[in-house]
Amino acid sequence: MRWKEQLLKLKPYQPGKSISEVKRQYGLTEIVKLASNENPFGSSEKVENVIAGYAGKFSMYPDGYATELRTHLADHLGVKEGQVILGNGSDEIIQMIARGLLKPGTKTVMAAPTFPQYKHNGIIEGCEITEIPLIDGAHDLDEMAAAIDERTSVVWLCSPNNPTGIYIKEEELTAFMARVPSDVLVVLDEAYYEYVTAEDYHDSLRLLKQYKNLIILRTFSKIYGLASFRVGYGIAHEETITALEPVREPFNVNTLAQAAAIAALMDQEFVDGCKKENRAGLEQFYQFCDRAGLTYYPSQGNFILIDFKKDGQEVFQFLLERGYIVRSGTALGFPTCVRITIGSKEQNQGLIQVIKEYL
Ligand code: PMP
Repeated sequence: MRWKEQLLKLKPYQPGKSISEVKRQYGLTEIVKLASNENPFGSSEKVENVIAGYAGKFSMYPDGYATELRTHLADHLGVKEGQVILGNGSDEIIQMIARGLLKPGTKTVMAAPTFPQYKHNGIIEGCEITEIPLIDGAHDLDEMAAAIDERTSVVWLCSPNNPTGIYIKEEELTAFMARVPSDVLVVLDEAYYEYVTAEDYHDSLRLLKQYKNLIILRTFSKIYGLASFRVGYGIAHEETITALEPVREPFNVNTLAQAAAIAALMDQEFVDGCKKENRAGLEQFYQFCDRAGLTYYPSQGNFILIDFKKDGQEVFQFLLERGYIVRSGTALGFPTCVRITIGSKEQNQGLIQVIKEYL
């Protein structure tokens, strides 16, 4: 049966252990989850106020075009409304791009390891995947550009890269874009954009003015703290957005999610506060690692990949049994590492204490 063989080649995407699963499995009551790069400070209070007003108003379909949210986002970003597409998480935009462009017979290029959804969706669509190994956690943009051929339809970049946290520099991205043929779409996933503090980080919105073949992905799941609502967005030239719109599900972003995202966008003070706390949290981990002699990748995201130089799964398990859910590097292509989401100061301190016990 051909259909079955095709699907059985795929493994379901495993985003990591849930709090309830760990509570049940280990009989624990207190769990700290620092595994999925969520915001430890929740979301803006403005979101709660807005959501409360929606009680009992669930019988109508959402605005399929997310008109208001799109207007707010376009204003916020300084682009035209027609340059924005909304998704049920940026996961869905990745899926739209794959569904629209990664046909059998085409090829797609990405770094490895990187965010697994690019590859996963490429496989589902039956497209050939070319993976270019990272160098010290960073994209090898030279090799990636060299891997593009006449069958290549999409190239994926992730900056800061998940799971290393390493970013692409402005000059590197500019040079890369100049090498990519104009009929190849470059997807620049900036899920962690709002956390970046590096001064030579790329100004991707500026590049959009020059390149019709660039789409930037961002999300409300990370610094805005709305992961459960599932809102992500793509920003590109109007022609690129027009081309993607037919692939989008008609009512893909629900009414509450749209309202929550608008409220979150209105509270940039919350965002700034989270960015500062995250930087301080990263410093907390850097100091600890430096003192403990542990290597790590310097991160521009809200997570840190620490190399324990032994089985990362073992470290993961030790922490799990003590109530801390992190990500084992085994599933992320870094078998001797664990990836830790930066938590609140207290959460970081608690986790560092348990890591000390392990060491
Ligand atoms: N891109 C990257 C690099 C991510 O790390 C994630 C979430 N882990 C996503 C996309 C998906 O985010 P969303 O919640 O918007 O679907």
